[in-house]
Amino acid sequence: EFAIYKCESCNRITVLPKCEICDKPTKRLYYCQKCGLIPFEQCKHGKASPYTLKQIDIKTLITNITKRIDTPLPALVKGVRGTSNKDHIPEHPAKGILRAHHNITVNKDGTVRYDMTQMGITHFTPREIRTPVEKLRELGYLYDVDGRPLERDDQLLEIFPQDVILPACDASPDEGADKVFFRVSKFIDDLLVKLYGLEPFYNLNSPSDLVGHLVLGLAPHTSAAIVGRIIGFSKTQGYLAHPLFHAAHRRDLDGDESCLILLLDALLNFSRQYLPAHRGGIQDAPLVITVTLIPSEVDDMVFDMDCCQRYPLELYYAAQEYKMPWEVKVETVKDRLGKETQYYGYGFTHPVTDINNGVRCSAYKTIPSMEEKLKGQMEIAELISAVDEHTVAELVIEKHFIRDIKGNLRKFSMQQFRCVQCNEKFRRPPLKGICPVCNGRIIFTIAEGSIVKYLEPSLSLAKKYNLSPYLKQSLELLKRRVEDVFGKPKETQLGLRRWFG
Ligand SMILES: [Zn+2]
Ligand SMILES: [Zn+2]
Ligand SMILES: [Zn+2]
Repeated sequence: EFAIYKCESCNRITVLPKCEICDKPTKRLYYCQKCGLIPFEQCKHGKASPYTLKQIDIKTLITNITKRIDTPLPALVKGVRGTSNKDHIPEHPAKGILRAHHNITVNKDGTVRYDMTQMGITHFTPREIRTPVEKLRELGYLYDVDGRPLERDDQLLEIFPQDVILPACDASPDEGADKVFFRVSKFIDDLLVKLYGLEPFYNLNSPSDLVGHLVLGLAPHTSAAIVGRIIGFSKTQGYLAHPLFHAAHRRDLDGDESCLILLLDALLNFSRQYLPAHRGGIQDAPLVITVTLIPSEVDDMVFDMDCCQRYPLELYYAAQEYKMPWEVKVETVKDRLGKETQYYGYGFTHPVTDINNGVRCSAYKTIPSMEEKLKGQMEIAELISAVDEHTVAELVIEKHFIRDIKGNLRKFSMQQFRCVQCNEKFRRPPLKGICPVCNGRIIFTIAEGSIVKYLEPSLSLAKKYNLSPYLKQSLELLKRRVEDVFGKPKETQLGLRRWFG
């Protein structure tokens, strides 16, 4: 299914709004059931379809395009099976080829995103974010928090509300935002030169040259992005920015996942027309862009954030008497709304030597298997006297394993079936036992292994920590349900060996 265009100078049909041979703009065509391809949407037979089924000679198309952008076809260019937007408009294939060439992946809306966990920051030193003092002065950081001119890399600075510090963590298995956005900038420069015939924009020599460039911050399930500016890189995995900036994503302040997009990438490659036609398709897309952050318009959760330099002694006295927090007046963001000080002069109570100190990558991320993660968790639980390992085991089983097994068991009984050869999907397996399209073998789409994988760990965990009879019996019943579906497992099966005891 493709939207159809016609190049009038080459007199040929194409699926692109610009002819890939002569580079002239093409004319959009519509498909009428009676007349065929027509140059207008409204036919005398009714409304013509904006797209039609069309065979395209992908080899010739790609050869023409790679010639035009003067880029060899990369070994692997990933794509999607069909288009899901209303008019079935595809992106220009040159973009996908150039992205593959620069080893970057794309979101459904045409942009490249970097996902991170949001973390608030109000102050930093140039050294912590590895940005030279001269560069920061260019960006407007002329004075430190005490009003002294910025000269050294250990002076403390208050972050501007729309500045962001990107993660470039050497302890994490994930690639840092510096490396990823550096490659995106190269992709965009290539795209401007080779496809659009324009000058390159970024011209970066190294990832640190990203400092000063603009980005869009966008939280999941929202469609309003906010413009930010990169000022440096931390060694953490956090997306460090002013609390007001995080609140402008319309999410909670801390620990939420959000993403950044290079601004020019969004302006150049985003299109509302790529978004799926179904409801929810416009979520997670930068449909609206906020350019200036106005504190009174951000998520009101941040309004209650304290911004004093130190807590008054009466707060501690009040705490001793178990008084409610609002009984002692402490300055919050709310008190500054509409005033000039809504943007600066935020205080903090405890200084740190370096924001990059401490554990920068959780063992949960580096330990490869769930079995080892859980064993590690239980070991720590046994070591820490403030933690009751029985409760930990109980919580892991109740909150994770049982839910996982029950959920997957239900999915198994409602699953689709699939042909191994032609990938045709079936609501129920055909009586014939083979694919009615190509005679291929029919298989499950949900594997037995994915259902039973946490059953044995739950049972052995419950036994080892001698958990309540209620929990043990719930697990026993669940085991019987699983056996009703799959039969009793052979004892020798590797995946079902005991994790505990
Ligand atoms: Zn043409
Ligand atoms: Zn017609
Ligand atoms: Zn088949």
